[in-house]
Amino acid sequence: MARYAYVNGRYVPHGEGAVHIEDRGFQFADGVYEVIPIINDRMVDAGAHLDRLDRSLSELGISWPTNRRVFELVMAELIARNRVSEGLIYMQITRGVAPRDHKFPKGVPASIVMTTKRVPFLSQKKLSDGVKVITIPDIRWTRCDIKTISLLPNCMGKTAAAEAGAYEAWQVDREGLVTEGTSSNAWIVTADDKLLTRPASEDILRGVTRQTLMRIAEEEGLSYTEQAFSVEEAKTAREAFVSSATSFITPVVQIDDVQIGDGKPGPLSHRLQNWYLDYCAGQKQLA
Ligand code: PLP
Repeated sequence: MARYAYVNGRYVPHGEGAVHIEDRGFQFADGVYEVIPIINDRMVDAGAHLDRLDRSLSELGISWPTNRRVFELVMAELIARNRVSEGLIYMQITRGVAPRDHKFPKGVPASIVMTTKRVPFLSQKKLSDGVKVITIPDIRWTRCDIKTISLLPNCMGKTAAAEAGAYEAWQVDREGLVTEGTSSNAWIVTADDKLLTRPASEDILRGVTRQTLMRIAEEEGLSYTEQAFSVEEAKTAREAFVSSATSFITPVVQIDDVQIGDGKPGPLSHRLQNWYLDYCAGQKQLA
């Protein structure tokens, strides 16, 4: 079956999708992106992802290349054309094409690229077995709240993790506190049973999954605290997990060389994961 991409107004065969060599995304990583999971034929939290895309664009002074309603129609059309019932849609907006110059060009329309991918998310073993993470220094810029396509430090971290046989790398600030993963937010259940994740600030991406999880926790009467935690606290935690659009809630069972809890996904992580997966499957509504 043909797989299509959407590039600047056209649906094209995936392998033929291309942008101009002077696209500012290509030359300066001058652009933003979103990834939305698709479960049971539905996008999960599409509204929140598009709100964040809107914010990322406005923080960088990039104008929407089309109105949001049209953008949503294109997303739905691409998913339908590619018959994705479980997987993801990736969308990227860059500042557009202009002769290479660091200064932002004026009056240039932004570029759009959208692709989809089928992924059998729900049957992935990492959801049930948990994963290992490593810790690395956070070497990123100071506006990690903007979801830019400038991801080189994240790619370096993820590669280091893979080389260490780990799934993710938790980045650590100069005070020794965990900021977040390279493509996920970090959570722990402390030795004294507190569910912690770092407060939203310019140090981390305000994950849509993180926000939904907080709403679920509130509805289920579970308390959580937005409080930064140290690597030491993480290693002595009872439980740990990561959250993201494509990791859902993935338990962490090892940090560097230290086993977390009994080395199996913890009970709270398991409950949160189940609730979140029910939510994704449309079986759990939130007020
Ligand atoms: N933090 C970073 C650096 C990310 O790249 C991501 C997702 O790509 C997240 C956190 C999780 O965000 P979300 O839950 O919206 O996928």
